[in-house]
Amino acid sequence: MVTGSATLVEAAGRRVLVDFGAFQGGRDLERLNEKPEQMDVATLDAVLLTHGHLDHCGRLPLLAKAGYKGHVLATPATIEMAGLILRDSAKIQESETARRNRRRRRAGLSEEEPAFTTEDAEAILKCFRPVPYNEAVEVTDGHRAVFVEAGHMLGSTSIDLAVSEGGETRHLIFSGDIGPGSLPILKDSRCFTQADLVVLESTYGDRDHRSMGETLEEFEEILHEAIEAKGRILVPAFAVGRTQQIIYHLVELFLSGRVEPFPVYVDSPMASRANRIYMRHPELFDEESHKVYKALEDNPSLRRFFHETESVEESMALNKQGGPCLIVASSGMCHAGRIVHHLRHGLWRKETHVIIVGYQARGTLGRRLVDGEPHVRMFGERIAVKAKIHTLGGFSAHAGRSALLEWLACCAHSGPKVVLNHGEDGPRAALAEAIRERFGLETAMPQMGETLELS
Ligand SMILES: [Zn+2]
Ligand SMILES: [Zn+2]
Repeated sequence: MVTGSATLVEAAGRRVLVDFGAFQGGRDLERLNEKPEQMDVATLDAVLLTHGHLDHCGRLPLLAKAGYKGHVLATPATIEMAGLILRDSAKIQESETARRNRRRRRAGLSEEEPAFTTEDAEAILKCFRPVPYNEAVEVTDGHRAVFVEAGHMLGSTSIDLAVSEGGETRHLIFSGDIGPGSLPILKDSRCFTQADLVVLESTYGDRDHRSMGETLEEFEEILHEAIEAKGRILVPAFAVGRTQQIIYHLVELFLSGRVEPFPVYVDSPMASRANRIYMRHPELFDEESHKVYKALEDNPSLRRFFHETESVEESMALNKQGGPCLIVASSGMCHAGRIVHHLRHGLWRKETHVIIVGYQARGTLGRRLVDGEPHVRMFGERIAVKAKIHTLGGFSAHAGRSALLEWLACCAHSGPKVVLNHGEDGPRAALAEAIRERFGLETAMPQMGETLELS
């Protein structure tokens, strides 16, 4: 599946974990958010983290809770992002458990514990060690790793884990999540030329996104429509990544005069904190974004259209805000967070536009909207979907099928075994077929908990 990324490597007498993400999208999946039994923390030597998204780092506090004292290696920007996301996640766990326990007490039931606490999150954050991009670092005996740009979110990486045993070295490549190469702000992904094993993500293994140019045209059209009808535009976006990208495109469109400026609200305290992390890492920006940010800085009359809302009261006040306006709020899959309230107020109005920019897992409200359901249930209420739902796949932070194949092409000549993860079965199978056709390589599509041997 797309969430819950985790791979345990056992080689040269050592055990190294690559990512330990949370499952997201519906209660059944979220029940999997625990430490699997076979994950013996006492014998775990090191953890490598590709990037700070929750579906890659979300279970790390469980390791600290189980007594893990080793290192978690990640780039400096990933460490900051993971800190933001894990602290937030711990707070949500604590408050949701408290809410459930109030009910359980009233029902005469015993109290539950949160999966992990702020203390566990802080404990694992103390284990983080920064690694530079593009330099080999020592992981544990016989294991060295090189982290390179993945172009997917700030700090994101693909990792080459080189394992040496008996004078032989094997290169195990972990793609992490790979960006499409056309994302603003971020630099493009880099690939590896030598591989014995490649664990490749397959989120969009069955399709190509529309080009960034076409996507921007569509985005611009939606903005014009909303301006005309004085409609509100709701963008469900995870606080980290898409939010900064949407703001970037808006700044660009406003600056160029293609779209008349209107109020834009980032309704997420976490997104505001993520923005500040972005601004602390200009070294990771591409050249174009330096220009755009500079232009915004020099233009106070444009800056006043961009607002960040902190408090719940400010967020609620947005319901009275007339159109045109654009509100970006999390969660990206519409299953929690402030966006849910904006959708409740907006979905039944035909002048509302909802722009879906990220992956929508099965079982989430976002997926139901994308699937075109005429009614949805929210807060026990049946709500008609009259709003226009747009899916802008071209804004995705994930490479489409062709870009995944291009990335793999760098090392395909060295004949690696390919393992597909981070994808539903349909896209995985489609990507496996394309890999067989183009490179003649066999791919494995393991289920969770399955062990593969590299001889
Ligand atoms: Zn990601
Ligand atoms: Zn991911």
